Amino acid sequence: MKANLNLGNISNIKIQIHWTFFFLIVWIVFEELNRGGTTASVLFNIALVFAVFCCVVLHELGHALTAKRFGIGTKSITLLPIGGIASLDKIPEDPKQELLVAIAGPLVNIIIAIFLYFLIPIQDFTNKNLGEALEYLSNFSLKNFLLYLFIVNVAMFVFNLIPAFPMDGGRVFRALLALKINRVKATQIAANVGQFIAVLFLLFGLLFNPFLIFIALIIFLGAYGENKYVQSMMLLKNHTVNEAMLKNITTLHPENTVSDVVDILLSGSETNFVVVNKNGAIEGILYHDDIIKNSKNRSVPVKELMTKSFKTIQFNSDLPSAYRAITSEKRPFIPVMNNNKLEGAIDLNNLNEFIMLRAKMEY
Ligand SMILES: [Zn+2]
Repeated sequence: MKANLNLGNISNIKIQIHWTFFFLIVWIVFEELNRGGTTASVLFNIALVFAVFCCVVLHELGHALTAKRFGIGTKSITLLPIGGIASLDKIPEDPKQELLVAIAGPLVNIIIAIFLYFLIPIQDFTNKNLGEALEYLSNFSLKNFLLYLFIVNVAMFVFNLIPAFPMDGGRVFRALLALKINRVKATQIAANVGQFIAVLFLLFGLLFNPFLIFIALIIFLGAYGENKYVQSMMLLKNHTVNEAMLKNITTLHPENTVSDVVDILLSGSETNFVVVNKNGAIEGILYHDDIIKNSKNRSVPVKELMTKSFKTIQFNSDLPSAYRAITSEKRPFIPVMNNNKLEGAIDLNNLNEFIMLRAKMEY
């Protein structure tokens, strides 16, 4: 089952909806009907959700198009029930650029809000006393629709600027710190503040709104993950692939059988294998899960199970880019080449080991 539904492309960026988004629609319909809503009120609410999510797309485009100006591409913008995610190829390391990319999203919301402020006019609502205003708000009119949209955009602006790294406000905070101190330290501070705010969210969530518990969890894990990533990248900087690769790897021949592979698997610690022909050229990769899946068919040759399309990496490439390449693979194991000659392989375990060893040397 595909997780996302494609909506189209804007400026080479895929816009997609995650399937869980449809739960949100179903939930809204149920809630509305439970409250004794009518067809009109249900449609009003669904239309509002779609309008809000258009604003979310514009917010994410704000980030993506600003990043594009700094030469950073965006693969996709994904809409989830809790908001949007723009998958940037990377986060700009220059703090001024990060600041602009991070602030661009919330700025879009404030521009929409200002536009709606003059369109509605807001005084129509603020002039009334509370009773009148509530009465007025219960109509399903275009004016009310726009007012709700105005409120949502102001709320999105405010909420996103809470300095809970890795939310937008937290990124702005890190960028401001990074103008003064080094980026690794800045990330650490921003991540700590982010995790502290996440704990506050969690407490508020437990007391008032379970939705906040969910947000708290995402912030907490996000702050942890990004902090770890930045620390790792710093430790990998100025090192090359040959320092962290597996040098003594066992290669297989296309005619080797599963039986041979199982023997090798049990007698050592290697789990993925490069398959090489008589001339020394790589034919494919036999991954651990494919070995396990076919372990009963002992006589099947390796060439029938190996994966024929794979990445390779040069032994003198820098480790940060190798790390990015490895972590973007579903099965993190890549052969390392010296021009056209197989030199070894690199996998995530080994890279993490390298990072741990470097960390011990740094502190
Ligand atoms: Zn944002």
